[in-house]
Amino acid sequence: VIEATVVYNKQVHHRYEVIVLLYDITEAWTVEQMQLNFVSNASHELRTPITAISGFAETLMNGAKNDPDKLDEFLAIIQKESRKLVRLTEDILSISRTQSDDPQSLEITESSLADLAQEEINLLHSGMQLHQVEVVNDIPKNVKVQTDAQQLGQIIKNLVANGIRYNRPSGHVSLSYQETTNRWQLIVSDNGIGIATEEQPKVFERFYRVSANKPGELVSGTGLGLPIVAESVKNLGGEVRLKSELGKGSTFILTFPKQWRPSAEY
Ligand code: ADP
Repeated sequence: VIEATVVYNKQVHHRYEVIVLLYDITEAWTVEQMQLNFVSNASHELRTPITAISGFAETLMNGAKNDPDKLDEFLAIIQKESRKLVRLTEDILSISRTQSDDPQSLEITESSLADLAQEEINLLHSGMQLHQVEVVNDIPKNVKVQTDAQQLGQIIKNLVANGIRYNRPSGHVSLSYQETTNRWQLIVSDNGIGIATEEQPKVFERFYRVSANKPGELVSGTGLGLPIVAESVKNLGGEVRLKSELGKGSTFILTFPKQWRPSAEY
């Protein structure tokens, strides 16, 4: 995207002399477009559950409440859509927070990676249905990493929750650790439904969800879990890679520098 400004314009005999300055404003324009897209996508996503909630409440008030079956069914829908709304607002807040985080606002401390991961796994165990999916924490107990524990906790939570949700009964999710001289890696792997090759780059886009991820039923979600992961990993100076095969499972490999430094210098 080019912006043009005429700074000099004069007629000399039969000729015009003109000086035009051209500015490449692609970057600013793209950022602005992305923000506008985000606001319009977010509003759209919020409107869907709100419309359902108010629609079903109104139908109940207009008489459906006298039919006990309809009363139960519609209340269940209202409850489900309200939960979706709560999750969506939490994720939207979370992504705008991670996006505006400057490296100075991170709280870098030394943490035990295995303990940090275990805390998130325990919270997930108490907060969601595990559908008989087993979560195995293979991170050695003695590993210490320099990181922002809150942000890394959220990354682990989102990846493990996805490994459970996009899985089958008796599937498993595992967390493991690897290191080289300068870097460490956290690997979150599952043997769930997998992601088709052509979908893999798209799952990191905001609000993107793979539509046919379970035959007959779509796992509920916001499409913001992986974008939050990508944004937070970047804040922590790291990078994320996805390896997946449809029907076999997915592996998310997160790589961080051992000496913490902000992504701008990485
Ligand atoms: P959400 O799970 O709320 O839809 P995410 O951004 O976390 O949003 O994930 C985007 C999409 O990527 C999901 O809808 C799902 O289709 C796919 N996906 C994410 N993680 C996995 C996984 N571990 N296995 C299979 N598919 C996954």
